Amino acid sequence: MAVRNASAIETVEDAPSRNRILGALPSAELSRLAADLEPFALPVNTVLYEADSPISHVYFPTSGCVSMVNVMEEGAVEVGTIGFEGFAGLPLLLDDDRMPTRAFVQLTGSSFRMQAAIFQQSLDGNPVFERLLNRHSLALFNQAAQSVACNRLHTLESRCARWLLMTHDRMRMEPFTLTHEFLSYMLGVHRPAVTLAAGVLQRAGLIRYTRGKVTVLDRAGLEAVACSCYEVTRKNYERLLGN
Ligand SMILES: [Zn+2]
Repeated sequence: MAVRNASAIETVEDAPSRNRILGALPSAELSRLAADLEPFALPVNTVLYEADSPISHVYFPTSGCVSMVNVMEEGAVEVGTIGFEGFAGLPLLLDDDRMPTRAFVQLTGSSFRMQAAIFQQSLDGNPVFERLLNRHSLALFNQAAQSVACNRLHTLESRCARWLLMTHDRMRMEPFTLTHEFLSYMLGVHRPAVTLAAGVLQRAGLIRYTRGKVTVLDRAGLEAVACSCYEVTRKNYERLLGN
């Protein structure tokens, strides 16, 4: 199935089963949902929903990364990352239609989306689907909780390595595009500090970071530098959602 929408910057072959939640459904269940799943490209910076505004769709990424950020007077900080393992639109699962975070595309990819009302109807009589969504919601909450402690207690360099690994896990291609400005936003610090931290990782031969593109050169080395939060979060996702 080809992904096309008005703001698409690329057309790629895609299938709903490339999303881990949809892919884990029994084929009869996935077929039942398929008619209501609309292919939707995710060019970088696309806003999926604004803070405290009605959420019109649930999104199931098949590639790329969606970021949930809290925007405050003093600046913006990322509170959660969603890739092909999950879905964006949590309030619609929990009987609400909005949340105080904004969701936007941090790295270009593709998705399938479903209208809010149809999504909520589809939960009736589909316990397998609901259970998968619940388990992803818990994993996402745990990820956010881990980030609160991480932002307070761990060094910028180790947080930068953690974030690159989490992104690397969700990207289905290399190199991936990432400006220093964007990374500073994700890590909640000013750009010069990010330049310094990324420079340390690059000089250690762990990543190549040129012209805003990141290639992971030494995955094991990057894991050794990352704070313990990376492993804690990864194992939690594995336990809740399978390998
Ligand atoms: Zn940490």
